[in-house]
Amino acid sequence: MAEATMADVLVIGGGVAGVGAGAFIAADARVVVLEREAAIGYHATSRSAAVYIRNYGNATLRALNASAEPFLTEPEGVSDRSLLSPRGQLMIAREDETSALDAYLDGASGIARIAPEDAVALFPILRREGLAAAAHEPAASDIDVDRLLQGLARLLRVRGGLIVTGAAVGALARSGGAWRAETRQGVFEAPVVVNAAGAWADTVAALAGLRPVGLTPYRRSAAILPAPDGFNVSRWPLIVSAAETFYAKPEAGRLMVSPADEDAVEPHDAWPDEMVLAEGLHRYEQAVTTPVTRVERSWAGLRTFAPDRTPVVGFSAAAEGFFWLAGQGGYGVQTAPALSRLAADLVAGRAAALPETVVRALDPARLAAPGPGRAA
Ligand SMILES: Cc1cc2nc3c(=O)[nH]c(=O)nc-3n(C[C@H](O)[C@H](O)[C@H](O)COP(=O)(O)OP(=O)(O)OC[C@H]3O[C@@H](n4cnc5c(N)ncnc54)[C@H](O)[C@@H]3O)c2cc1C
Repeated sequence: MAEATMADVLVIGGGVAGVGAGAFIAADARVVVLEREAAIGYHATSRSAAVYIRNYGNATLRALNASAEPFLTEPEGVSDRSLLSPRGQLMIAREDETSALDAYLDGASGIARIAPEDAVALFPILRREGLAAAAHEPAASDIDVDRLLQGLARLLRVRGGLIVTGAAVGALARSGGAWRAETRQGVFEAPVVVNAAGAWADTVAALAGLRPVGLTPYRRSAAILPAPDGFNVSRWPLIVSAAETFYAKPEAGRLMVSPADEDAVEPHDAWPDEMVLAEGLHRYEQAVTTPVTRVERSWAGLRTFAPDRTPVVGFSAAAEGFFWLAGQGGYGVQTAPALSRLAADLVAGRAAALPETVVRALDPARLAAPGPGRAA
């Protein structure tokens, strides 16, 4: 039998969740991150819209977003300057979307209603007709995702951790007080395994003989369009329809437009569905005064949600040393610092820095369903 590489903690998945948790855990323990692909961040992490929006998501997510913000602005050990840069978010509502806008504003902070005329002043190609209401969230920011991910990877290595790429975990079993993960790069053993496998987290749980928590990957697409003729878009805010039927934001002098699609799919290397993209671009076109002339490039990624759309973070009650870090949905980049710190606290057996209500809302035990195999 091949000799195993020993560690204190194995992390399965080299996206922002796994690399971030690995970097934070490595302050106290020997960490090995196992990533199937040839490079870290290949899946959801490198395909995001790269925005930080404090009010995005349910109350638990809003608490995580707020908790992550200080690290994103002062990312000690990861970068010498803020990972955020000003963008702002403009939420727009047609008459039939005003209740969605009301729901977003409920409990939100740092966002104010503005007149439709002021919305057009902020995003000059917005069509005034049909615009019933708008709200502006000035503190929404762009995130430098690559600097975040590479900085976390560097921090992990500085702390003695290891990232092994091309290392798909194909077998995972516990014996003699340790998890044993088999990959083409060798065998790895540690008493604790962190399941940060993104869209594949339920698949990894199944390898360990655990029941799924019910994660569903949803495809989301995006396209890059040239800037509309005669406009410099660089300082425009992100615009999003209140019912989240599309959004658009400046991206390196061009516009990124997403249909905000959410089609349930199996875990896979995602690509955009041409029809879904075309329909989404049509919805965007209805909201603006300039036509879509050309798509320069497009992509898709998977946003993976638990049934209650809240991340799944904490030790399994059914299998010793099995830690869930999954279901980050559309918030996994902006919440990564908060969830990485929480993972490090819980793995080290420390009291969490986050409020108890938030920690409980994330606990995998809430999703334990009856059925064959061991619970979550
Ligand atoms: C279009 C789009 C826009 C988005 N916009 C934003 C945004 O603006 N802000 C935000 O915060 N979030 C956004 N998100 C969500 C964000 O991208 C994700 O929540 C986040 O990247 C999830 O990180 P992750 O590490 O869990 O997953 P991933 O980055 O997918 O990483 C999981 C990794 O696990 C690896 N893996 C799986 N199985 C195995 C195995 N058996 N062995 C070894 N490795 C394995 C995979 O190869 C993968 O690299 C967006 C997502 C999309 C698709």
